Amino acid sequence: MTDDFRVRYAPSPTGYLHIGNARTALFNWLFARHYNGTFVIRIEDTDSARNIENGEKSQLENLKWLGLDWDESPDKPGKYGPYRQSERNEQGIYQEFIDELLAKGLAYKSYKTSEQLAEERAAQQAAKQAPHYIYEYEGLTNEEREAKYAEFEAQGLKPVVRFRVPEEKVYAWDDIVKGHIEIGAKEVGGDWVIQKADGMPTYNFAVVVDDHLMKISHVLRGDDHVSNTPKQMMIYEALGWDVPEFGHMALIINGATGKKLSKRDNDVLQFVEQYRELGYQPEAMDNFIGLLGWSPKGEDEIFSLEEFKNMFDESRLSKANAKFDQKKLEWINNQWIRKDKDRIMPQLFDQIINAGLISKEEAEKRSGWLKEVIEVAGVDGISYTKQIIDLVREPFFQLGEVTDDMVDYLTSEAGRKVFAAWEKAYTDLSEDTDAATYMATIRAIQNELEIKGRDLWNPIRIATTHQIQGPNLPEMLVLLDKKQVLQTMADVKAKYLN
Ligand code: GLU
Repeated sequence: MTDDFRVRYAPSPTGYLHIGNARTALFNWLFARHYNGTFVIRIEDTDSARNIENGEKSQLENLKWLGLDWDESPDKPGKYGPYRQSERNEQGIYQEFIDELLAKGLAYKSYKTSEQLAEERAAQQAAKQAPHYIYEYEGLTNEEREAKYAEFEAQGLKPVVRFRVPEEKVYAWDDIVKGHIEIGAKEVGGDWVIQKADGMPTYNFAVVVDDHLMKISHVLRGDDHVSNTPKQMMIYEALGWDVPEFGHMALIINGATGKKLSKRDNDVLQFVEQYRELGYQPEAMDNFIGLLGWSPKGEDEIFSLEEFKNMFDESRLSKANAKFDQKKLEWINNQWIRKDKDRIMPQLFDQIINAGLISKEEAEKRSGWLKEVIEVAGVDGISYTKQIIDLVREPFFQLGEVTDDMVDYLTSEAGRKVFAAWEKAYTDLSEDTDAATYMATIRAIQNELEIKGRDLWNPIRIATTHQIQGPNLPEMLVLLDKKQVLQTMADVKAKYLN
């Protein structure tokens, strides 16, 4: 491992693992592993009001499920810990640098109330100005400003600490993904808060202190952080630190609307957990996520994590928006399901057991049969394992209703003839008849009665399975219990054919 390349994934535990965050984590992992660097996980939990219970735990758990591992994290401390910002704050790590900026006059205490700030903002809006902070100590000497602090403190006001933005400056960097970017300091909206009234540092401040102290060399993150980068560069500059390389990965857009993927887009599942519950494979999720804003040479689209790692090349990160196409994810997952059916079989069993179609013991006892049921029911067509439940339910575990159009097939002239011929033939066949023999039997009925197509097949299918369409009928008959089928046929006959 080289200490030259140190990257990090820095989630805020304000929710579960979102696809966009999973992508950031995946690409940092790929970067670290490709270059034999170090992958760090740091928890950015300074916004305590927004943290959710289990947010950290479930995010890390889902990253593990995706097959990612890391070298340093809260649960695997290295020499740059602690790895939670709340704990770093308790140790006074941020305070030291806030004090340094205050002492140098590069930051100041601000006592404006939220009402004052709202008034200023409203006035700016009315004047059609971009919202910006108005510095309240303009023209005062240090002593005069300190005197003001004392006045405010005496009124019982609590300060925030704001960074004094050097408005005339322009911040520029060569982004690994987007190329050269320049943003004027004026665009950040004026002096911004680096420490909140409760003593917590803000994200844009803490992230710089931590990336510096943790010797992060490359910061790969989502496009939404481009506008934060100049703020962060101001802090690097003020503290006299080197700036890491930045790379801002393409925005993920909703393929259906063309707009930025938003948590409010109810038509798109966006949390890794949700896909996991439906029975998506971690390999397929990695495969899909690895192609969100990155593409390899050539036309292939199915890749393992290991292949991504070997191929990784940051110059192939795309500038163009990444389209979130759920149909593509379904296709990729289907490919992974078909790739290795034995591996997937226990998951399919679990889905069927959890749906209450069969007990665990029974599934184990009849595992050969259940495997065949899964194959015949059409496992090759499923997009995720949960779909197997509806495919196998009827007729293997339950019978559906006999609908009016089924009754029409059964009671037609052809239907009655076919039923009678099939009833006789089926009764005579032994219990271990194979699919080819069932096929030959049905063909014999076809020749004898000169009835073919749906008029031939539907009455038989309906009488044995209560279905009008479904998987290959001879193959299904092999897997159905003969006594039960005979009973089904007798019931159909009694109800509709007398
Ligand atoms: N905690 C930040 C987030 O979740 C990290 C951003 C960054 O990588 O700098 O968006």
